[in-house]
Amino acid sequence: MKWCKNKPSLLSAVSYRVPMEVQAIRLLPGGDSYPICPRCGITLDREYMAYCDRCGQRLGWVLIDIATIVTEPSR
Ligand SMILES: [Zn+2]
Repeated sequence: MKWCKNKPSLLSAVSYRVPMEVQAIRLLPGGDSYPICPRCGITLDREYMAYCDRCGQRLGWVLIDIATIVTEPSR
Protein backbone atom coordinates (compact mmCIF):
# COMPACT_ATOMS: atom_id res chain seq x y z
CA MET A 1 0.00 0.00 0.00
CA LYS A 2 1.28 3.42 -0.90
CA TRP A 3 0.72 6.52 1.15
CA CYS A 4 -0.17 9.80 -0.40
CA LYS A 5 1.39 12.52 1.70
CA ASN A 6 -0.77 15.15 0.06
CA LYS A 7 -3.93 13.78 1.56
CA PRO A 8 -3.33 13.43 5.29
CA SER A 9 -7.00 13.84 6.10
CA LEU A 10 -7.80 10.47 4.64
CA LEU A 11 -5.21 8.86 6.83
CA SER A 12 -5.70 10.76 10.04
CA ALA A 13 -7.53 7.98 11.84
CA VAL A 14 -4.87 5.37 11.25
CA SER A 15 -1.77 7.47 10.81
CA TYR A 16 -0.94 7.56 14.50
CA ARG A 17 -0.51 3.82 14.45
CA VAL A 18 1.60 3.79 11.33
CA PRO A 19 5.17 4.89 11.97
CA MET A 20 6.15 8.30 10.68
CA GLU A 21 9.82 8.38 9.89
CA VAL A 22 11.91 10.79 11.94
CA GLN A 23 13.69 12.90 9.36
CA ALA A 24 15.17 15.76 11.32
CA ILE A 25 17.55 16.15 14.23
CA ARG A 26 17.98 19.32 16.25
CA LEU A 27 21.60 20.07 17.03
CA LEU A 28 22.11 22.28 20.05
CA PRO A 29 25.06 24.64 20.48
CA GLY A 30 26.44 22.44 23.23
CA GLY A 31 26.74 19.54 20.85
CA ASP A 32 23.76 17.55 22.01
CA SER A 33 21.34 16.42 19.36
CA TYR A 34 17.73 15.41 19.63
CA PRO A 35 15.45 13.84 17.06
CA ILE A 36 12.40 15.88 16.10
CA CYS A 37 8.91 14.40 16.04
CA PRO A 38 7.68 14.45 12.44
CA ARG A 39 4.12 15.12 13.54
CA CYS A 40 4.22 17.76 16.26
CA GLY A 41 7.79 19.03 15.95
CA ILE A 42 8.98 18.67 19.54
CA THR A 43 12.41 17.37 20.28
CA LEU A 44 12.38 13.81 21.54
CA ASP A 45 14.25 12.86 24.68
CA ARG A 46 16.20 10.15 22.99
CA GLU A 47 16.55 8.21 19.78
CA TYR A 48 14.58 5.10 18.97
CA MET A 49 11.55 5.96 21.05
CA ALA A 50 8.58 3.95 19.82
CA TYR A 51 6.12 6.80 20.32
CA CYS A 52 6.25 10.55 20.69
CA ASP A 53 5.68 11.59 24.31
CA ARG A 54 3.58 14.55 23.30
CA CYS A 55 1.37 13.59 20.39
CA GLY A 56 1.55 9.83 20.57
CA GLN A 57 2.67 9.43 17.00
CA ARG A 58 4.36 6.13 16.35
CA LEU A 59 7.87 6.79 15.16
CA GLY A 60 10.08 5.15 12.59
CA TRP A 61 13.85 5.35 12.56
CA VAL A 62 14.78 4.04 9.15
CA LEU A 63 15.79 7.46 7.88
CA ILE A 64 17.57 8.69 10.98
CA ASP A 65 21.00 8.23 9.41
CA ILE A 66 20.13 10.65 6.62
CA ALA A 67 18.06 13.01 8.73
CA THR A 68 18.28 16.73 8.23
CA ILE A 69 20.32 18.52 10.88
CA VAL A 70 18.52 21.54 12.29
CA THR A 71 20.47 24.07 14.28
CA GLU A 72 18.89 26.51 16.65
CA PRO A 73 20.05 30.09 16.43
CA SER A 74 21.77 31.04 19.66
CA ARG A 75 19.79 33.53 21.73
ZN1 LIG B 1 4.94 14.33 18.43
